[in-house]
Amino acid sequence: MKISVSMLSTYLYCPRKLFLQKVLQVEEIPKESLVLGSIRHEVYDFINKAEENLVKSITEKPEYEKLREIYRQAYARKVREAIIRNRARIREVNLDIVNVFKRTWPYITAEAEERAQNIFNFIKEHNVYGDELWGKLIPKIISELSIESDTLQLKGIIDKVEIYKESYIPIELKTGKAPKEGLWPGHKIQIVAYALMLEEKYQKPIKEAFVHYLDNKEKRHITINPFMKEEIINLVKEIQELLEKKSLPNYCENRNKCVNCGAKETCYNEQEVDILMSEIH
Ligand code: SF4
Repeated sequence: MKISVSMLSTYLYCPRKLFLQKVLQVEEIPKESLVLGSIRHEVYDFINKAEENLVKSITEKPEYEKLREIYRQAYARKVREAIIRNRARIREVNLDIVNVFKRTWPYITAEAEERAQNIFNFIKEHNVYGDELWGKLIPKIISELSIESDTLQLKGIIDKVEIYKESYIPIELKTGKAPKEGLWPGHKIQIVAYALMLEEKYQKPIKEAFVHYLDNKEKRHITINPFMKEEIINLVKEIQELLEKKSLPNYCENRNKCVNCGAKETCYNEQEVDILMSEIH
């Protein structure tokens, strides 16, 4: 049975949490950050889908400010639409839509500026427009790329992939605090898994990947090495066994993790856990 890549990071965070979610079907209380994160994902998805038409519509040398404005306006419209679509979930976590817009817009405007700059520089260097500009543009960027691997027994959706002639670079977008250096272990395992899955799917060597910590505005780099594949395969096996065994893992050793865990209400409620366990035996 293939498992999702996000399960790797949940398992590393706490095996008991994964068990509660996937075997006992405990739903997490929707947290503010989850709702904000999924709105951002919806907008990023639009951004990538709209990119081709936007680029093809550039038929003459643009001023950078004008180009940036075109991007900003298109994206602002989509942020508003995504917020309206999610207003019930926004209410559930006691936020209001103005506040959500204010907290979402800085990320999206940064993306608009980055993409506008990328196109502007490319035009300056290659002097091409419209369809030809789109055809020659490097890197092209796709987001929300669905991917599966029979070898790794994994499936998932990559936030963003930059496509170069010789290689692909996967990028995961994360909200919340970045670690002092490097990547959080769960984020590392996730991006490595995606890099290996891309390599298998497109038969191109993937040597690097990034996790973009949106709140810190920092892209953290990771070099992919061949030993990582074995680590992922072993982890997937452990998880598959955990899901099949039907025995509840212990509480995690680092109880600090429990403070921010969305499953803690059920996790510490022994009676509820006993009832749920009796249902699967
Ligand atoms: S509350 Fe703690 S022990 Fe329970 S699932 Fe969450 S992290 Fe694990």
